[in-house]
Amino acid sequence: MADTGVEKVVIIGSGPAGWTAAVYAARAQLAPVVYTGVPKSDPGPVLPGGQLMLTTEVENYPGFPEGVEGPHLMDLFRKQAERFGTRIIEEDVNRCDFSQRPFVLHTDGGRVRAHSVIIATGATANWIGLDNEMRLARTGGGVSACAVCDGALPAFRNKPLAVVGGGDTAMEEATYLTKFASTVYVIHRRDSLRASKIMQQRFLSRPNAQVLWNKVVVDVLGQDKIEGVLLEDTVTGERAPLSVGGLFIAIGHTPATRFLKESGLEFNDKGYIALHGRHSATNIPGVFAAGDVADAEYRQAVTAAGMGCQAALDAERWLAAQGID
Ligand code: NAP
Repeated sequence: MADTGVEKVVIIGSGPAGWTAAVYAARAQLAPVVYTGVPKSDPGPVLPGGQLMLTTEVENYPGFPEGVEGPHLMDLFRKQAERFGTRIIEEDVNRCDFSQRPFVLHTDGGRVRAHSVIIATGATANWIGLDNEMRLARTGGGVSACAVCDGALPAFRNKPLAVVGGGDTAMEEATYLTKFASTVYVIHRRDSLRASKIMQQRFLSRPNAQVLWNKVVVDVLGQDKIEGVLLEDTVTGERAPLSVGGLFIAIGHTPATRFLKESGLEFNDKGYIALHGRHSATNIPGVFAAGDVADAEYRQAVTAAGMGCQAALDAERWLAAQGID
């Protein structure tokens, strides 16, 4: 039997992974509590609900043949979790003490004790950090950190588009955009790409692909909609505008793990929570992770949701093995 005042499962995070974990844990009668997080700027917008809250149309989430607005999709996830009795607390978890059992989580409102914890805090896209970049990203003005989410929208069709970055994500996103754009410029700060050769080749073989070497974006131009970027040459220092109808930032992601720094959890070499095998188990028994906070590779809503399901099933089995059900 669980101690009074100790939650069986606390889920931290309210994106696709967190809500899916909640649906499964609630239906398993584990009475989960979800800490949703609170809105912040980091420096880009970070909202409860995660990255889909910053997306307009989602066309690749199965079950929505006509597409669905990102915030609406997250609302549906939340309602489904609520329907089975998930308790929702709109606060941040600021620190986790996994050295004692039950675990102790320090939140905005105090402390909560838990037998098991599912971490689903996601990752945030890195931004250059320019004022006009952030403004147009917030207002749907044609600046995005996810070409696969937003690039196929009608607003970007047959226009010159730019992708910033030189890694695999930049190549993948730029290659994707070549299907819709008149020209895709990859803007890279050096004279060679970090991306794997095969990904480079895939992009460079497209007739409308172009790399602008040794360039950084120093400003984003346009009032309500992006009209162009101001580029600076990193070798000569020369500045020149480039006309584009969309800007996609692909300079990496940062997993939301700051609140876990002293927790004893293991991270991989990229700073994501290290998982053991195909399971959601971390190095600390009873602590599970799901979604982008533990996945640098796929980072899709549907894969995050799948991981949330796994984490809830893993937590349920682990709790049963401890005699807590
Ligand atoms: P990444 O490999 O860290 O590359 C980030 C890129 O952004 C680098 O080219 C970097 O430039 C550039 N950059 C970083 N900060 C910048 C700034 N402030 N201004 C301008 N440019 C900046 O990140 P990623 O491409 O997102 O890939 C993450 C991981 O996922 C990698 O391991 C990757 O292989 C993997 N991945 C795999 C696939 C696939 O195989 N299908 C697809 C996507 C991602 P520098 O090169 O100068 O440092």
